[in-house]
Order: sequence, then C-alpha cells, then structure tokens
Amino acid sequence: MSRKSAVPTPQLPRRSWVEIDHGALSHNLKVVQKLAGRAGIIAVVKANGYGHGLNEVATTLSEGIAIFAVASLGEALQLRETEKSKPIMLLSAALPSEYAEIAAHGFIPTISSLEEAKLFAKAALKIRPKTSPLPQIHFKIDTGMGRLGAHPAKAEAIVKAITKLPLSLHSISSHLPSADSDDVSTKRQLKRFEHIVQELRLLVPDVPVHVLNSAGTILHPENSHDFVRVGLLLYGISPIPRMQKMLKPVLRWKASVTLLNEIPKGHGISYGSTYLAPRKLKVAVLPAGYADGYPRQLSGKGATVLINGKHCPVLGRVTMDQIIVDISRAGSVSIADEAVLVGPQKGKEITAPEVATQADTIPWHLFCGITARVAYWHRNQEGKK
Ligand SMILES: *Cc1c(COP(=O)(O)O)cnc(C)c1O
Repeated sequence: MSRKSAVPTPQLPRRSWVEIDHGALSHNLKVVQKLAGRAGIIAVVKANGYGHGLNEVATTLSEGIAIFAVASLGEALQLRETEKSKPIMLLSAALPSEYAEIAAHGFIPTISSLEEAKLFAKAALKIRPKTSPLPQIHFKIDTGMGRLGAHPAKAEAIVKAITKLPLSLHSISSHLPSADSDDVSTKRQLKRFEHIVQELRLLVPDVPVHVLNSAGTILHPENSHDFVRVGLLLYGISPIPRMQKMLKPVLRWKASVTLLNEIPKGHGISYGSTYLAPRKLKVAVLPAGYADGYPRQLSGKGATVLINGKHCPVLGRVTMDQIIVDISRAGSVSIADEAVLVGPQKGKEITAPEVATQADTIPWHLFCGITARVAYWHRNQEGKK
C-alpha cells in the first residue's frame, strides 16, 4: 500500500522485523479523542509515521482525525497516494522552490514570516485557476521554541498583511519546547500565546488555533483550542510516564536467533573487546544492529532483549548488523527462536522509553531511527488480518 511497500513478513524468513498493532493504534486514538474533548485532532505522521509506516498508520487513523501533519512535501505526496480527503499540513519550513507544488496539491504550509507568505501567494497564483478557493496557510508564532514562527511582537502586523494577500488563513499555532519537562515555563508560554491569540482575534475572529503536542495535551487540556497536534500518544507512548497505563504501545521489534555459540572465559566479545566473558558464556547472535536502527549507544549500557521471557544482556558493542546476547539464564534456546528487542514477551516487557533512555535518547528518535532494512508486519488492520 505504501510506496516503500512494507514487506508482509509472515511468508518471508523472519530475521528482524517490526510488528505494528493497528488495534492498539485505534485504542490510542480513542484515548486522544477523549483528552482532546471538543478539539479536533491533527495527527502527526511525519518521519514515516514515527517509523510505524506512514500510509498504513494514516489509513487506520483517518476516520477519527481532522488533519494530518507531516514534515515535508515529499511526505505529503506519499501520504496523498492513500489518503484522498483529509487536509495535510506541512510542519517544517518549505523551500520556495516547493511552493508551487504545495499549492497545486492544496497542502497547508507553515508560514513564519511575511516574506514566506508573499512568495507562497505568488507561487500559488501562478498555478491556480481563478475559480478555485484561496490557498491555505498555517501561521506560526514563536512563543519560546526558537525554531519556526514569527516573534510575538510582529504577529499582529504579519496577520494583518496576510489578510490582504490572496491567501486563506487556515490556522494559527505555536509550539511548546518543554511541555514534558518544565511546567512553569510551559504555563508562562501558554499564557503568552493566549494573550496573542486574543489580540489576533480582533483581526481574524474565527481563525482556528492549536498549540498542544502530546505532553501538552495530557497536562494542559484547557488550552486545546480547536485542535491538538499529537504524535507520540497515538503510537502508544506517553511523554508523561505516569499516564502510560492508559495507552497501548503500537510497535514491537523482534529478531530471530541466527546463531548459538559458546564463548570461553576471558574471551572478548564484539568490536574493541570491551566486554570479556567472566566465565564460559552461552550466547545467541541476533540479526539486528545499528544499521537497522538498534542504537550503537546501547553498547555496554546494560541493555537486554527478551528470549523465553527472560532478560538477556546485550554483550559488548552493538555492531552494524548483529548483536550478541547472553542466554546463560534463558533456558533452552534454539536457532530461529524469537527475541524481543522492544515489546512484551511472556509477562516481561522492554519499553521504547527504557531502550531510548539507555541509549541516551528519546522514544521519538528510537522509532524514527528504525531503517528500511527492517521488515514491517501490520497486524489487526481493518479489512485485513
Ligand atoms: C512533531 C511535532 C508535534 C508532535 O509532537 P509529539 O510530542 O510527538 O506529540 C507537534 N507539533 C509540531 C510542530 C511538531 O513538529
């Protein structure tokens, strides 16, 4: 279905693969709908649906959401192949050379400056039949992120000027840099944004507004306005750990044991021989490494995988294509047995936030770092098995 044509793995020899549970995705959507209340959902599916598969994820979410958000024109075009009706917003700044195509497809760009707005209007005018509706833009205000968006002091003048251009203002937004880590500054930022919105409403009374990401949606639902802009929650991971219980992780990452080996006492394991077997060790080799997106930063950090429902430590460095795990305490293990890198097995679980933390990163990064070499198996998709 998607351009990358996710390989349906059940028929293939299973080496390393990701299972995407669309039942869990639907569950999380319901949770987000409840949190959002009357606000609509802007479903953030950038970076291949956070590594979950753009087209497949979008197809499952489509009915329950208002708008899809991706990063770039390329992602929007890929999404449009399967998503025929919902509006698609581009969250990253676009290149002027992309404007005409963005306008031609009716995608909604994020605009931070009057210069961008003018150039976009000009590009759109060239390709637009006179009878078609005005091209839509989304105007962003920087209330603290320091990335995209106009300085608050300039917002009013820019919006005033935009209303005179042949453009339609789809919505006004801002983005929270610290919603999951700094409540005080987030509250201050939200207050500042409310103030700006009130002022702008004098110019554009009915313009829709959105500011909350996943963490904001959990912690500050009173600021939902017209839409919440959520990614991580939909994939079943809460940026606020105490709220994890209400969600179901969508992604599981597995690999088959490809080799069993015995390493004598004192023998080095993996590059640099950073790990020396303290005794004779039974190990299994798994066909997943940093070229699959299993972070090399997990080397020597006490990461484990699950085999037979037992935590098996990753020994030495993560290599490009393979890892070596200690199965001394895993009981009887055979070639082709299933190892779980991320997900549950027999009552135990390795969560994405745990793995991300061990690798000194965040679950967003872990997910979108999974590479095209890993096969995808989409389960519980409606209309399919
Ligand atoms: C990625 C992104 C989001 C989604 O963030 P989550 O924390 O995954 O919910 C929301 N808004 C913008 C502007 C983004 O770039």
